[in-house]
Amino acid sequence: MAPNARLDHRNPLVFDTHELGRRPGALQRLSRTIDAPKDLGLVGVVGVPEGAPVELDLRLESVMEGVLVTGTARAQAEGECVRCLEPLRLDVEAEFQEMFSYPDADDRGRPKAEPADDAEEDEDRLFIEDGLFDLEPVLRDAVVLALPMQPVCQDDCPGLCSECGARLADDPDHHHDAVDIRWAALQGLAGSLEDGEKDEMSGADAEAGVDEKQEK
Ligand SMILES: [Zn+2]
Ligand SMILES: [Zn+2]
Repeated sequence: MAPNARLDHRNPLVFDTHELGRRPGALQRLSRTIDAPKDLGLVGVVGVPEGAPVELDLRLESVMEGVLVTGTARAQAEGECVRCLEPLRLDVEAEFQEMFSYPDADDRGRPKAEPADDAEEDEDRLFIEDGLFDLEPVLRDAVVLALPMQPVCQDDCPGLCSECGARLADDPDHHHDAVDIRWAALQGLAGSLEDGEKDEMSGADAEAGVDEKQEK
């Protein structure tokens, strides 16, 4: 989020703290279902499709420095199994807690010591602007953390046959009588390793080696 971008109260991920007020200890609970923003998740791996419902439950707590936001987001993510490439859906429940500081909070409780530390912290700090805060960066980080980096359709997904690409879960007895082919493949691998050693010694051989590998 650009620090000076004006927040739009019509954005469903922008929340208003006016009702909460600035009296420390004040609490407010909010529930809201929003349409997922673009690219919510691990792009290209698994994520919540744009526009899909995301249920948000938030607890806003007024503290001296700003508003402490604690919450949960629930949604359904889509992706594909990293082993068998079948489409999959999974329920995501992401929890988060974040402090949104009042822009004037710096000048109050914070001594001006340790400028280096402050500079580092400031990059990650989120602020309340005109009584509003933008939950989107917090939601993004929480959803990414809650998603599996390597989603699988089932824990024991056997993946695809390395020779013909068949989905092994559909055909557990699937096999090929391919002993000879495997030996040939191993011999080919040994050959290319030797080429690799030569590559380091001479440029001409290196080019030949590359050509040979591309043909395979
Ligand atoms: Zn799978
Ligand atoms: Zn096969």
